[in-house]
Amino acid sequence: MRYDVLVIGAGLSGMTCAIALAQAGKRVAVLAPGSGTLPMHSGSFDLLGYDSEGNVVERPFEAIGKLDPSHPYAKVVATHGAQRIGQLAEQAYEMISQLAVAPPSRGEVAAQPCPVVNQYRLTPMGALKPTWLTPVHLTAFSKPSLAGRQFVVAYYKPFLDFPVEFLAEGLRKAGAEVHVKELELNITSVGKAALKAPALARQKQGEALLKQLDGFEGQCPVLVPHIFGDIELTEMNERLDRRLSVVPTLPPTCAGHELSDHLRSLFTSLGGTLLEGDRAMSAIIENDRIVAVKSSKHVTHDLLQADHYVIASGSFGVKGLEARYDRVAEPIFDLDIDALDDPQQWTTSDVLSLQPYTNFGVRTDERFRTSKHGRTIENLYAVGSILSNTNSIKLACRQGVSMLTALQVANGILEQD
Ligand SMILES: Cc1cc2nc3c(=O)[nH]c(=O)nc-3n(C[C@H](O)[C@H](O)[C@H](O)COP(=O)(O)OP(=O)(O)OC[C@H]3O[C@@H](n4cnc5c(N)ncnc54)[C@H](O)[C@@H]3O)c2cc1C
Repeated sequence: MRYDVLVIGAGLSGMTCAIALAQAGKRVAVLAPGSGTLPMHSGSFDLLGYDSEGNVVERPFEAIGKLDPSHPYAKVVATHGAQRIGQLAEQAYEMISQLAVAPPSRGEVAAQPCPVVNQYRLTPMGALKPTWLTPVHLTAFSKPSLAGRQFVVAYYKPFLDFPVEFLAEGLRKAGAEVHVKELELNITSVGKAALKAPALARQKQGEALLKQLDGFEGQCPVLVPHIFGDIELTEMNERLDRRLSVVPTLPPTCAGHELSDHLRSLFTSLGGTLLEGDRAMSAIIENDRIVAVKSSKHVTHDLLQADHYVIASGSFGVKGLEARYDRVAEPIFDLDIDALDDPQQWTTSDVLSLQPYTNFGVRTDERFRTSKHGRTIENLYAVGSILSNTNSIKLACRQGVSMLTALQVANGILEQD
């Protein structure tokens, strides 16, 4: 089978790249063996939340210019100038707006095209974290202080993925007055599997919630766990005359499942080919170019061929990278890796500090082309969390790195052809 582009991995980065290419009319296939880390998605999109010293970033586009030159954003700036980051973010913002039933918002700030100032998302543990975009129904604030604000936090007792005490405590620490109310779940089975947020979303709790909210006094916003489907949420908000705001649950999240579904349906609606349950295994490489990829469903014949290949197979958690006894490896192509040689140095004994291995990843040049034994592979690009030196946990830039590197590579392929 021959495509213009074969994308390996159906996470945020792979799907973003594939959609951008399909929108431009390319024949694109995506290898999608599983859901990857998308079910962990909080619903918000981080671009750059902290600088290298750990200070909160208010204006991510300005701070990106000061990042270490090895960071993927810095590679974009080096080849295309600082304004390219803004252009890619604009492209990402448009794509997110097409995906979500509820459009991205500026929290309590009026919606505007491609925001340039960070907002603060509320985590299920009650922390306020800087982020770039949050869908309109999810809780986000324009500043980290909630002094003088009042909230009702409503929760369902059997549902354990919403740690209400931590959440209420976090809001109080930020200066808010908080009342906690228990709600009743309208389901018959309360087994563990039924009590995961995406499973509850299928049980449609909206009507029962609306009835219970009738008994709540006052007009202050009610924060509830995100256990509703996005259509149900939109309907509820239309019918309510007080503000209902959802807070992400611990993973797996509704936002993650919905994002995964929306990405896949947008891609297939554009004529893209999703190779579900199919995993890349190895490749034929000739003259520094990938000629074909072998996958779990295309082993000996009908190999997957394309003009360009994009590896978006994620980090250690989804086997995009592997920690072997003696080295860190990328298992499909055995690409060159940026990692410390000594396995003793991959982790530190202080479990609360950032672990060195989180910064390991595939080495790329300024165009995100990969290499093997020091030789550039001309038609294989890497995007997303498989890249080295993203520092994405410390800098809170995970979704930004995934989407912006994916779009940079997609644009680069389109510019070449
Ligand atoms: C521990 C952890 C915590 C996270 N916390 C958050 C959070 O708080 N908020 C948030 O928004 N996001 C969170 N994420 C999600 C993640 O950081 C983002 O989705 C990120 O943008 C990564 O996207 P990606 O496409 O690079 O990788 P992934 O989303 O990991 O996608 C990689 C895909 O490649 C596939 N793959 C792997 N090997 C192969 C192969 N051989 N062939 C074909 N496909 C392959 C995987 O199955 C997977 O679907 C978390 C992730 C992890 C691991």
